[in-house]
Amino acid sequence: REREQLRLERMKCVNQLAAGIAHEIRNPLTSIKGFIQLMTRRTDKPPTPEHLEIVLAEIGRIDNLISEFQMLARPLKEPVFEEVNICKLLENVVLLMESQLHTKNITLQLQLPQEHCLTFGDISQLKQVFINLLKNAIEAVPFAGIISLAVSRQQDMLAVTVEDNGEGIAAAVVEKLGTPFFTTKETGSGLGLSVCYRIIQNHGGTIKVFSEQGKTTFTVFLPAAVEDEAVEAICC
Ligand code: ADP
Ligand code: MG
Repeated sequence: REREQLRLERMKCVNQLAAGIAHEIRNPLTSIKGFIQLMTRRTDKPPTPEHLEIVLAEIGRIDNLISEFQMLARPLKEPVFEEVNICKLLENVVLLMESQLHTKNITLQLQLPQEHCLTFGDISQLKQVFINLLKNAIEAVPFAGIISLAVSRQQDMLAVTVEDNGEGIAAAVVEKLGTPFFTTKETGSGLGLSVCYRIIQNHGGTIKVFSEQGKTTFTVFLPAAVEDEAVEAICC
């Protein structure tokens, strides 16, 4: 009986996912189709580079969506756990996001301590988590906004906080965070946070969200590694 219940729930989940993917892919596909049709009909007017840019951007959207979805639908790829210096990992992530931060003239405040930053985890999955959280923060802040990224030790956990001075998240929205395909953005996939939640859960951690008007804080808790003085921090 229990197994049947579980099977039904799984089916429901799969149905929701399939509907979500279909919807997300159909939007860019519709506009690509429209543009191509227009180009083939109006042979007197060859497509401009601008038109092709739009088509490329829409294809890029589908591509991103599939990558994000793969992350979500990949229980098969076992995480490779190793000792990770989370501060060094974050420095790496910041480098990846630099151009996006720069474009929006964002001030990034870093508080990355020199020690007690070790955890066990899959480096590429953990990078993905902080890329997704930073991306959301970048999208949330106004031009010349402020984002802070901090690591601290809290008992046997490492706490990584990503804070932004964007508008904040309404209480009704907070409850839905992490639901696949839930987005309030025009071209959002709504997959970023569900990927984060899944990865962090797999790492024995949790994610806490705090938000008020003009401030949003995501805190990722990860089990701190028992530190052996003799072992040098390896990372990335
Ligand atoms: P997406 O970014 O594609 O919308 P996510 O799963 O990353 O999908 O985020 C889901 C939703 O959570 C966003 O659409 C937004 O409403 C909300 N959200 C996430 N992070 C923030 C943030 N830092 N500030 C405000 N809202 C946020
Ligand atoms: Mg996102």
